[in-house]
Amino acid sequence: MKTTFHLLTGVCGIVLACSGCATNPITGRSQASVVSDAEAARESTRAYSQLVSQAQVQGALETNPQTIARVRRITERLVPQAVQLRPETRSWRWEVHVIRSKEVNAWCMAGGKMAVYTGLLSTIQPTDDELAQVMAHEISHALLSHQAEKMSRVQMQKTGLQLGVLAGAMAGYNLQGVAGLADTAATVALQLPNSREAESEADSVGIRLAAQAGYDPRAAVTLWEKMRRVSGAGSMELLSTHPSPQSRIEAMRVLAEKYLPVYQQRKF
Ligand SMILES: [Zn+2]
Repeated sequence: MKTTFHLLTGVCGIVLACSGCATNPITGRSQASVVSDAEAARESTRAYSQLVSQAQVQGALETNPQTIARVRRITERLVPQAVQLRPETRSWRWEVHVIRSKEVNAWCMAGGKMAVYTGLLSTIQPTDDELAQVMAHEISHALLSHQAEKMSRVQMQKTGLQLGVLAGAMAGYNLQGVAGLADTAATVALQLPNSREAESEADSVGIRLAAQAGYDPRAAVTLWEKMRRVSGAGSMELLSTHPSPQSRIEAMRVLAEKYLPVYQQRKF
């Protein structure tokens, strides 16, 4: 009976490995895609609207009209460039809210649902060019299907557990409790940090996106220098999964040089 267990999980593993990948049109990298961008966007839209209503009830939505207008102005310049880079995101209902929180953070979910935290604005005191770099980096995670990729990994693990239950039942084991440990894909995906590879991709695409929108790529260097100084303030998405901050800044310098001509051409 043990043979049945191994055979079944083995066969299913092979099926998942073959059918669950897609090539990202921007990077050409093969990514897990058991959960599609469309599904990730649907889940995120639901999660985002819950989060925004909750924030509203708790009085955690920023109301300062100047702050909101500033963030929206930058978003409105970045989004058309994002759509140009990944045309299928045209159907996304791009949206941004400013959240009152001490955390130095910002994010963009699949489906173009964004948030900028007031802690980022007050601690970093970014110029518009620097804030655009943060937002372009976050938008790039969505364009590069990083959330769908994380959700796919979670889904594959979950499916693996369910198949294990099936095989286990056949083999006389009761693994039902183990399958119950698998959380919903959306929740887990939003809480899982991005890989270093995903961070480097978002850095590179983000600086390009910002340059195309007329934001100075050299601001990426000054932004991450400021970030390094406040790294103790703890931003999960922005600071946690990178190699050393110094090597990131050096990589940013090279990218800034590369995209400077794009900025100089597009400068508004
Ligand atoms: Zn990131």
